[in-house]
Amino acid sequence: MDQYYTIKTSFFGNTNPQQLIEQYGSPLYVYNESILRQRCRDMADFIPYANYIANYSTKANSNLELLKIIREEGLHVDAMSPGEIYVLLAAGFRPDQIFYIGNNVSIEEMMYAVNLGITVSVDSLSQLETFGQHNPGGNVAVRINPGFGIGHHEKVVTGGEKTKFGINDDRIDDVKALIQKYNLNLVGINQHIGSLFMEGEPYLQSIRTLLDIASLFEGLDFIDMGGGFGIPYQKQDGEKPLELKLFGEQAAELLDAWASRYNPDIQFMSEPGRYVVAECGVLLGTAHARKENGGIHYVGTDLGFNVLARPVMYDAWHDIEVYPKHKRAVDSLKETVTIVGNICESGDIIAYNRQLPVISIGDILGVMDAGAYGHTMASNYNNRLRPAEVLIRRDGTDKLIRRRDTMEDLIRVFPTHTV
Ligand SMILES: *Cc1c(COP(=O)(O)O)cnc(C)c1O
Repeated sequence: MDQYYTIKTSFFGNTNPQQLIEQYGSPLYVYNESILRQRCRDMADFIPYANYIANYSTKANSNLELLKIIREEGLHVDAMSPGEIYVLLAAGFRPDQIFYIGNNVSIEEMMYAVNLGITVSVDSLSQLETFGQHNPGGNVAVRINPGFGIGHHEKVVTGGEKTKFGINDDRIDDVKALIQKYNLNLVGINQHIGSLFMEGEPYLQSIRTLLDIASLFEGLDFIDMGGGFGIPYQKQDGEKPLELKLFGEQAAELLDAWASRYNPDIQFMSEPGRYVVAECGVLLGTAHARKENGGIHYVGTDLGFNVLARPVMYDAWHDIEVYPKHKRAVDSLKETVTIVGNICESGDIIAYNRQLPVISIGDILGVMDAGAYGHTMASNYNNRLRPAEVLIRRDGTDKLIRRRDTMEDLIRVFPTHTV
């Protein structure tokens, strides 16, 4: 138990999982404000280069209250859609703090950002052409594919030959031709090579490549190196966090060298998503059933993939903690179980063959590191209600920051039906 991440970090403040579930219902996303602020600061200070800024990637978690905290900590933001821009403005970000990284977007979406004064990055020559036709003389950024990618699963590798993202470096002349044709001002180049790396070297390598490409352009305001910073999902097995200090110093060396040679005023940006929000979030759920089928011991819970999609989508691992309903004498008694949800699909499995303390019906389970790509990927599949979100503030008190869906929410969208 004392190995538990939530105990070591006083994650639940003045409350505890049982109280939270009683008050707000199950399942429930819980966030810890102190951990969120610390991760923001890690990223804001990561590279000791004066003109460096971390752009939080909104798609990892777009809860309005969390975005306000991230803004208070001085981070800027990336948006992937008009919906994200809309929420970011509501959270108090200024247009000049938002970077819209478009991917196959309509001209209406581009113009939504342009008209607000938000810088847009285009992802292909075709989108650059579209941008130029509608905004001749405008400011634009271009997403580069540096030719290689990284990631914990092929679905999250976003650089290299086999990805839909970015403009390949052999098309730089075409980029320049379009910039000239429409008299555009190329303000920046950006990249994002993939998600969840635990060592700095591949990222440093991608910076070197990006800087080489950057030297082919003149007058850039910024160079955006992308996100992908990993977090240790297997803390219970002793997995260590990313070594940020040395990594940041090595990055700063590269940036300093480039800046002094080509452009001392250049701004460098990174785009962390997961790193900022994953570890401040725990997903709580309840065990409702046990059974043995074909020699496998299942624990049935309300943690379906409509609530947390990562295990099903990426075979992702999340550590699990067990909070017993009744204090039990033999806490160290363990068994091997497979934890499943309540969705009618055989793939609805949150954890395979885990060694966990014996779970009884009514016990609460905590799914660790669920703050990134958790609630933002939740759905109403099987007409399940998406869970509420609660913040544990710095003073240990809890606060509802998003209500659970209601049954009425499920039919509200049908024009022929009045609730
Ligand atoms: C998703 C995304 C990020 C953030 O990725 P993480 O792995 O969460 O850090 C950054 N930039 C772009 C363009 C993205 O699509």
